[in-house]
Amino acid sequence: MQGVTFSNWAKTYSCTPRLYYEPTRIEDVMEIVAKAKKERRRVRVAGIGHSPSTIACTDDFMISLRKMNRILEIDTKRFTVKFEAGVTVAQLNETLPSHGMALSNQGSIGDITVAGAIATGTHGTGVAFGTICSHVLSVDLLLASEKIVECSRDVNSDIFHATMCGLGATGILLSATLQCEPAFHLHQRQFSSTLQEVLDNLESLVNSSEHFRFCWYPHTENVVYWKNSRTSRPPVKCGSWFWDYAIGYYSLEFMYWLSSFFPSLVPSIAKTYFNLLYKHPREVIDRSDKVFSFECLFKQYVMEWAIPRRETASVLLQLKKWIEESKFPAHFPVEVRFVKAEEFFLSPAYDRDSCYINIVMYRPYGKDISHHEYWHAFEKIVLSAGGRPHWAKDHGIRAKEFAGMYPRFGKYLQVRESVDPNGLFLNEYLEHVLVDESK
Ligand SMILES: Cc1cc2nc3c(=O)[nH]c(=O)nc-3n(C[C@H](O)[C@H](O)[C@H](O)COP(=O)(O)OP(=O)(O)OC[C@H]3O[C@@H](n4cnc5c(N)ncnc54)[C@H](O)[C@@H]3O)c2cc1C
Repeated sequence: MQGVTFSNWAKTYSCTPRLYYEPTRIEDVMEIVAKAKKERRRVRVAGIGHSPSTIACTDDFMISLRKMNRILEIDTKRFTVKFEAGVTVAQLNETLPSHGMALSNQGSIGDITVAGAIATGTHGTGVAFGTICSHVLSVDLLLASEKIVECSRDVNSDIFHATMCGLGATGILLSATLQCEPAFHLHQRQFSSTLQEVLDNLESLVNSSEHFRFCWYPHTENVVYWKNSRTSRPPVKCGSWFWDYAIGYYSLEFMYWLSSFFPSLVPSIAKTYFNLLYKHPREVIDRSDKVFSFECLFKQYVMEWAIPRRETASVLLQLKKWIEESKFPAHFPVEVRFVKAEEFFLSPAYDRDSCYINIVMYRPYGKDISHHEYWHAFEKIVLSAGGRPHWAKDHGIRAKEFAGMYPRFGKYLQVRESVDPNGLFLNEYLEHVLVDESK
């Protein structure tokens, strides 16, 4: 198709590829790659387009694998699932329970392709859990040479380690096999606290449940935290959450829109909504995927960095100080999650237990909201703490700086160039982050 405009979920970026494809067979994908090579065009695969950055954009050929979304194989003895690359996390969550299986961990939303999540290192929270890539057993990858290779920790191991959190730059992921586990329920307990109290007890809190996460409300001391752990107890629903969503959707967007004219309202919004939604302890027991899901409300700018876990308190206190001194009308929440060290060359959690800190500025009714001053201040703080940005989200980091952040950055480039010597799978975003323009 020509004239298709692709834009991301938050409508912060868009592009109009020269040709847009929705193939249904591997042969079609191979044909597109061959045509691109012949016409000296580049190819980018888009997932659902949830990435807050331009990582999926291209002006050349764009492929959506939304019609290649079959579950190929479910092994209920080994608890593994193999599927085509257009499959979403939500689709797996619909299918796996009827086979007595579940994903071990996941990020906040299901409306993303597993391939997109693999390419960007999508993560949930839990000190014993890596990103989604840590659950991948193997993938089938179409290389620029038009050859399909299977990669795993044992077979084509370098390509595998470059493809996990590999920015979709080593080839086109055609299918993947994930390690799952027997279906389980999670018991979620919600508590309110203060930032200082949580930071003072951080190590015991992060180890107190399987999936610990907290949100700090800027302009206040308030924190809400959640402890999720598996349970054999029967489901316990928490009915009033319906009203929370109603409050969230219908009034918060309006309040943030109003505050774009009167920024002094922002601290009161943070206090009021915390008191309405999170002040009181709550608990729920439900199917794991339902508890993992987190309501992200409406369109937003987001920036997220992974820092060494020991730097959590220092970074958050510096950010708090900056917001207080600058009086910047930072929106809530500042979300804090924890991820185990892993071995993939470009994983922000490469070789270190990490804390991911996500900051947000909403775009009420699609309105552009000033956020660059906040972004720069946060970036400066996390950079000095040895941070690495989430690849899918906003950041201003370039190849030269990445080379200093990632011990295996050179190895990644070497593997990538060996499988894609002419840059068939590159785009503008990847040129900024992979090619040192000063050389
Ligand atoms: C509301 C919201 C909540 C989010 N929550 C989280 C969270 O909890 N944790 C977290 O870590 N992230 C989170 N994200 C980020 C999100 O998980 C990533 O941006 C993810 O990549 C989106 O998947 P997608 O299918 O939309 O991929 P896209 O954004 O469309 O693409 C992402 C990348 O994947 C590549 N890609 C896609 N398919 C293929 C393929 N078949 N072969 C090769 N490359 C491919 C694309 O080229 C691109 O580089 C969130 C984003 C939003 C908007």
